[in-house]
Amino acid sequence: MIKLTKRQEEILLIVKKDGPITGKQIADKLSLTRATLRPDLAILTMAGSLEAKPRVGYYFNPNTELKKHAADIASQIVNDYKAHPIVVQKSTSVYDAIVQIFLEDVGTLYAVDKNGFLSGVISRKDLLRAAIGNTNLEELPVSVIMTRMPNIVTVKPEETLLDAAKKLIHNHIDSLPVVRESETEPNMIEVIGRITKTTITRAYAEMLEI
Ligand code: ADP
Repeated sequence: MIKLTKRQEEILLIVKKDGPITGKQIADKLSLTRATLRPDLAILTMAGSLEAKPRVGYYFNPNTELKKHAADIASQIVNDYKAHPIVVQKSTSVYDAIVQIFLEDVGTLYAVDKNGFLSGVISRKDLLRAAIGNTNLEELPVSVIMTRMPNIVTVKPEETLLDAAKKLIHNHIDSLPVVRESETEPNMIEVIGRITKTTITRAYAEMLEI
């Protein structure tokens, strides 16, 4: 989106409030000449912030404005919004994973192998299910109960937040590990972040607070 000058912001406010309004009337309100304003009006019209109709004047089109915001929101990338991933070794016990979920205040843990590559996802319900059926949670490794590769749905840092939101919805899950391929080990992936329903809701709420 283009950065508007102070004068362009003022013009937008006037047109929003009093439009449709002629260039001459806007110029009078700003105590400027019509000629001085011409470049600003041209920029605002080209950018789609204002619309101009012959003999009617300039007016503000909320739909155009909305479309611009929608395009802006849709183009935000995962990398700028990802949160810190909470990672455990896949040999970690279910008991310790439960403690970790409370300590870190998250809903999902990512399990890695001893080389640090992604190997599983453990959600709250995975832990609850394990806790119902087993008495010795300190002996049970999370690798037995986690969702494993290659069934893990992931997102890359350059994908959009909208891509991430769609993956969460279509797969009925709460979080996605943000990943990149290992440079040293082909086919292995490293976890560099997480995107959750909360991350996306917060990002969209902030963006829409215009
Ligand atoms: P919860 O189980 O607490 O409701 P989720 O809805 O995220 O949390 O998880 C539902 C199931 O999907 C769990 O079995 C979990 O292991 C699995 N899961 C969670 N996230 C992912 C993911 N990114 N890819 C694949 N499976 C996942």
